[in-house]
Amino acid sequence: MKVIGHQKTISHIFDLIRNERLPHALLFTGPEGIGKKRVALHLVQRLFCKNPEGPCEICSDCRRVAALQHPDLFWVEPEKDLIKIETVRVLKNALALKPFEAPVKAAVLVDAHSLNPAASNALLKTLEEPPPGTLLILTTFAPHRFLKTILSRCQKVYFSPLSTEETRAVLELTEEGKDLSPELILQSEGSPGRALNLSPEAWEKVRKTILPALQTQPKDLLQLFSAAEEIAQDESLHKPVLQLLMKEWREKLVKKPSSSDLKKFDAIGQALRALDHYANPLLTFETLFLNLCL
Ligand SMILES: [Zn+2]
Repeated sequence: MKVIGHQKTISHIFDLIRNERLPHALLFTGPEGIGKKRVALHLVQRLFCKNPEGPCEICSDCRRVAALQHPDLFWVEPEKDLIKIETVRVLKNALALKPFEAPVKAAVLVDAHSLNPAASNALLKTLEEPPPGTLLILTTFAPHRFLKTILSRCQKVYFSPLSTEETRAVLELTEEGKDLSPELILQSEGSPGRALNLSPEAWEKVRKTILPALQTQPKDLLQLFSAAEEIAQDESLHKPVLQLLMKEWREKLVKKPSSSDLKKFDAIGQALRALDHYANPLLTFETLFLNLCL
């Protein structure tokens, strides 16, 4: 499994392994879609691979980890944005057993901020008293959503966005990503995952409707509200639209800082956080567009 970028992060973790200082729980935190899962698998391969210089990528252990089919690897992803207590219970029982083949058992909880409160508490016990020979990796792009008690028991590993070159290199390995326009790649801000999610539709909405409606004098409220309605109805547009707007205002601020643009930038950030907390999308977008008119 080729990992592009994140070389400093990986060598830091590998140093921990070499010095036998790898903690039993790691929290991989950083923007969506930049390769946290890939690095988690690379780390598990490093632990499971029989090749001392590993991961070799070709042995049976490395290949089964990459295919998520190794009996000592537990891979948990949210279902409908939720990791339930039942899943955590199954995981706890599995981790209590000795490893089948590998030196340790590893569990990766993807988007672990999706643990509901009951599941968080169930996981907390495992984090407090981990069975010997276990490694838990939690990945997240929303660390603010965790219980503090969970955060305090994990060693945090911070991931930065990739460079544009690295983003392009990752995308070229994928079927959907190899023909993406340079403009969309630039818009993804170092996240290949985001580049794949950056729908051309969101791009159109922002460029052709929202920004022009904000530029007319007086502002075209009717057009903005109808855009808010259309965006609210299509969940796949929510985040991409906000991320594009955020980028737009970040650029404005870099060119010419002003308190009015700073307030608008904050308002976009607030809308993103509100949607993260399941706010009503229509109200969120209407409020945001009104704030952008001020
Ligand atoms: Zn190997």
